[in-house]
Amino acid sequence: MKSCLFSECSLARVCFAQLKISNMIPAVTLNNGAKMPIMGLGTWRAEPGKVTEAVKVAISAGYRHIDGAYVYQNEEEVGAGIHTMMDQGVVKREDLFIVSKLWCTFHLPSLVRKACEKTLNDLKLDYLDLYLMHFPMGMKPGDDLFPFDEDGKIISDGSNFLDTWKAMEELVDAGLVKAIGISNFNKDQTEAILNKPGLKYKPATNQIECHPFLIQEKLISYCHSKGISVTAYSPLGSPDRPWASSEEPSLLEEPKIKAIANKYNKSPAQVLIRFHIQRNVIVIAKSVTPNRIKENFQVFDFALSEDDIKVMLSLNKNWRGFPMPWGSKHKDFPLNSEY
Ligand code: NDP
Repeated sequence: MKSCLFSECSLARVCFAQLKISNMIPAVTLNNGAKMPIMGLGTWRAEPGKVTEAVKVAISAGYRHIDGAYVYQNEEEVGAGIHTMMDQGVVKREDLFIVSKLWCTFHLPSLVRKACEKTLNDLKLDYLDLYLMHFPMGMKPGDDLFPFDEDGKIISDGSNFLDTWKAMEELVDAGLVKAIGISNFNKDQTEAILNKPGLKYKPATNQIECHPFLIQEKLISYCHSKGISVTAYSPLGSPDRPWASSEEPSLLEEPKIKAIANKYNKSPAQVLIRFHIQRNVIVIAKSVTPNRIKENFQVFDFALSEDDIKVMLSLNKNWRGFPMPWGSKHKDFPLNSEY
């Protein structure tokens, strides 16, 4: 038996508990047959000095799905947390579901493999379980992650996301990633991928902003009808987003959410996470605070009633924490259509 985090005498009990945890986490079966744990740890704005510990705490608490991205600029530290847990025998690579994203400045097909290899190198992993096109918008390659022109407009690389998709399909064939998906794609853009001549792999998931203020009913139902799972980002409303203003609504402070939470003796965050699980939507919540990381995972021991889900759905106001104004002039800006 591999060495364990815990003392000899508690070894058997702990390993049994871990076995139970991995069997217990509900998963969504993707269109490549892989099982993606329905709840994962987000890592955007997880500071490099904190995220290694956050990943370790999360894996110890039972998380098996970690959501990252090149643009978060913390993949080395995320990888360090993953490796500590693997080295201590807490998890094996195959128990984990590791997600990363191709950044927009690498959309030119000749850059896609290099970008994926950089992420794998930073994470020190041989493969990703899922690699997403972070946005449909290709941007000018270079060191500048957000290349703006003098008018403050993002500079496009002129690429077509269908060509980027083809280059991502080659990553699956090369064994660098098990599945590929999209993020921030609207219905027409998703459909364009599905209708691409010579399509080899359908997107496994579309990762989009989703919570009770933006319930995404039409896009979720479209994706599900095509066998594409949906992953909800910013489930708590992303309270630490740098552009937040005090006039904007707060999900964690919403009285109806608080009332539902009180009813189940749960926190608003737990209710907001559970909301997605009951819609069969994968959910990723970010925290670097150990108690919150653990709290956010305690969502498999209760169920919201249909009426409570209805109340939560009725809070929809099509409000976005991520309106992406920086991309609004790009030819592939995703938020100009209804959904
Ligand atoms: P979330 O909605 O997950 O909110 C994160 C914030 O909530 C942090 O400030 C965190 O604080 C706080 N928080 C976490 N748990 C609790 C709790 N139990 N009670 C109170 N506050 C809490 O926002 P994100 O925007 O980070 O979304 C989640 C993940 O989705 C991202 O980290 C990223 O992985 C992904 N994402 C993807 C995008 C895309 O374009 N594809 C865009 C945005 C996000 P603290 O950390 O200090 O504990």
